Amino acid sequence: MLRQQGIVAIIGVIVVFAILHLGFAPEHHDPRTTGTTMLGGIAFLLMTCSIVLSTRLDIFEDLFGGLDRMYQVHRVAGVFAALTALVHFFGVPKDLPEGVDPVANALVPSAPLGMLGLIFLVIGLFIALNRKIRYSRWRPTHKMMALVYVLIIGHFMTAPNVFVEQFSASGLMIILAAIIGVISLIYSLFGMNRRTALPFRIEAVNALERATEVVLTPVGKMLDFKPGQFAFVEVQGKGWSEPHPFTISSAPDEGQLRFTMKVLGDWTRKVREELQPGGEVKVRGPYGRFDAAGAGKKQIWLAGGIGLTPFLSKLRAMQPDDDRQIHLVYAARDQQDAIFLDELKARAAKLGNVTLVPLFSDEGHFARVDKMKENLPDPLSTYEYFMCGPKPMVDGLMKGLRKEGVARKNIHTEAFEFR
Ligand SMILES: Cc1cc2nc3c(=O)[nH]c(=O)nc-3n(C[C@H](O)[C@H](O)[C@H](O)COP(=O)(O)OP(=O)(O)OC[C@H]3O[C@@H](n4cnc5c(N)ncnc54)[C@H](O)[C@@H]3O)c2cc1C
Repeated sequence: MLRQQGIVAIIGVIVVFAILHLGFAPEHHDPRTTGTTMLGGIAFLLMTCSIVLSTRLDIFEDLFGGLDRMYQVHRVAGVFAALTALVHFFGVPKDLPEGVDPVANALVPSAPLGMLGLIFLVIGLFIALNRKIRYSRWRPTHKMMALVYVLIIGHFMTAPNVFVEQFSASGLMIILAAIIGVISLIYSLFGMNRRTALPFRIEAVNALERATEVVLTPVGKMLDFKPGQFAFVEVQGKGWSEPHPFTISSAPDEGQLRFTMKVLGDWTRKVREELQPGGEVKVRGPYGRFDAAGAGKKQIWLAGGIGLTPFLSKLRAMQPDDDRQIHLVYAARDQQDAIFLDELKARAAKLGNVTLVPLFSDEGHFARVDKMKENLPDPLSTYEYFMCGPKPMVDGLMKGLRKEGVARKNIHTEAFEFR
């Protein structure tokens, strides 16, 4: 779940900037100049926040509720930055104030730098939001946004004093943000945002129904993780391109790592067709905050298809003395598609505190809030919910639960995508 602390921190930075900018505006500035330069500053701060989030630092995971949430905020901050920058561009006075020499002003590169930055920002945003572009192509293009940031710094630093005063209180805040932003850019662009890679040997590659289970044995240190967390998997060898994120489906005390990968595109198909036991894999992580251990005593776990993986790890880690009451709703296409169903049944029977509810869409059964209301012993608002599955399913359930009075803080979701 997206935690409010992170959003409050971003809003706080923007509010402080606005107060400083409006409160200490130079007397010779007309309201339009003050207002539009403030919007330019806000756009820059939003871009900086977006860049800082791409550092993937642990502290931000705590603040925002996991890496998947950080990337959602990264995207939204980018969109708002572009919109605010557009308003700034159209609103900022184009005529030079009296007394400013147009020839001297023409020699200052602020306007062309800003214009270029804005054009690249808008193009970059269209590319960033285009889901049709393959991830492996999209990623290097997205990194070009770093250029936009540098152009905008140039635009601000060379802007004539009649528009902004770089060394005013709000100007200094922008300069500080630029320093943090540039350090974050270098950190991310040079791959320092990837957590230390631990080497693993491929123990087994098991073909399942439309998915592959990859079992890894640590070569040295074992990855320390909590059930529900994920990691980036990097297969060593030619043609294996960039790391891919997968939820760890094993329990932390198994001594091995298990990932269950749905066959979706080129990389996951290659895993199924070409990955061989004995090969080397690097695992970076763990990431994520989809943790049910510290939540309420009555929990509903809603898994759709491959969205079962975080719950698989939680269930595999669960001890017989666990005092939570858990309903695991597992929605799949049909019996065959419901991977690990037999294991889930056996574990639920052994544990005693887990009620398993398999639902097959081919038989006309879906995860539905009205059915949950009918079948659960207590009112819906008394449970804590954990959901992972296809977006339409998660969005639909979220809407239904909210309508039934379930507090937002009691609904936790894990997104299987970053963009
Ligand atoms: C936090 C998280 C946990 C996940 N856990 C699981 C899991 O347990 N089991 C499972 O089957 N899938 C999981 N996924 C999804 C999995 O990462 C993608 O299905 C996989 O990377 C697809 O790669 P592809 O090249 O085969 O498919 P493509 O068709 O190329 O990609 C399909 C989707 O995956 C995204 N994607 C592709 N490559 C990457 C990458 N390198 N980094 C980030 N996103 C990428 C794309 O944006 C696209 O939306 C998880 C994703 C995230 C973000």
